[in-house]
Amino acid sequence: MSLGFEVLARDGAARVGRLTTAHGVVETPVFMPVGTAATVKAMTPEGLAATGARILLGNTYHLMLRPGAERVAALGGLHRFMNWPHAILTDSGGFQVMSLSALRTISEDGVAFRSHLDGSKHLLTPERSVDVQRLLGADITMAFDECTPFPAERAAVEASMELSMRWAERSRRTFAERPGHGIFGIVQGGVHEDLRVRSAKQLTEIGFDGYAIGGLAIGEGQATTFAMTEATVPFLPEDRPRYLMGVGKPSDLVGAVKRGIDMFDCVLPTRSGRTAQAFTRQGTLNLRNACHAEDGAPLDPDCRCPACTGFSRAYLHHLVKAGEILAAMLLTTHNLTYYADLMAAMREAIMAGRLAQFEAPQ
Ligand SMILES: [Zn+2]
Repeated sequence: MSLGFEVLARDGAARVGRLTTAHGVVETPVFMPVGTAATVKAMTPEGLAATGARILLGNTYHLMLRPGAERVAALGGLHRFMNWPHAILTDSGGFQVMSLSALRTISEDGVAFRSHLDGSKHLLTPERSVDVQRLLGADITMAFDECTPFPAERAAVEASMELSMRWAERSRRTFAERPGHGIFGIVQGGVHEDLRVRSAKQLTEIGFDGYAIGGLAIGEGQATTFAMTEATVPFLPEDRPRYLMGVGKPSDLVGAVKRGIDMFDCVLPTRSGRTAQAFTRQGTLNLRNACHAEDGAPLDPDCRCPACTGFSRAYLHHLVKAGEILAAMLLTTHNLTYYADLMAAMREAIMAGRLAQFEAPQ
């Protein structure tokens, strides 16, 4: 296999693993911060690495439109362009072409659409998506899929899943094998267990370096996300990483790791950091609230991040109220540190065989 993955320990369905990429080793279970436009918003690459992050997610749809995949390639690839020496996973563009672009037309070939930036016409096919991800230099490429809307009729979900499986096959065929690089397939099938199982079996037959569960965390609720995860995981290869896309809150991460998931991504910690929300070991705080105005205590006394070791809740509240850029920088740093430490604590609990007792604050 071109992308190394080794399971080091198991506890129930959960596992601790080591993912070896062309840009270093990633310990799993892992949370991947989202770097939409070749930057994790409000973070320098050094600050991001200091949170513990060793892999981030880049967005194919955004980068192909601006600055353009060919331009990034000419400038040395995405790692060089954004000065991030660690691993990068890129999404396929399938989700954002559906949620952001205008005048979409889906055919067997792919998705024709107009850019949300300037109205220019584009065609995204499995072949083009994989090629864009190669130009960007992604360590992990995602197969191009159609994100099925929720809710949707079963027949529509089934047809969409089957289209995604044909696109997965074309994506796999287009992918150029390189040492330390790999391509993941994406299980679809909405909230229908049998469709999820069929999708997982079809992808396994094609054979990928890892397997993602897509089309969840889009409004179906945590219990359904967990149920679909539980139904799918037994049909995915034991020796390959599993990635639950777009998830989630701390309690979602804990529940999904217990069900055998190794990788996650979500805008929640970064977006929350820009809207004055902080995740802490005592629960979620809104730094906009006046109750923090005279509080000299740190955000989270058990946190190692610069926001918690250097500043008070009162100061962070002041920055938020004054609309200072530093508020977003410090709160994003804190939230990503909190997420990284939550994942590290789960890895430790799995190694010690005590994940069953592990719970995230609400
Ligand atoms: Zn902190």
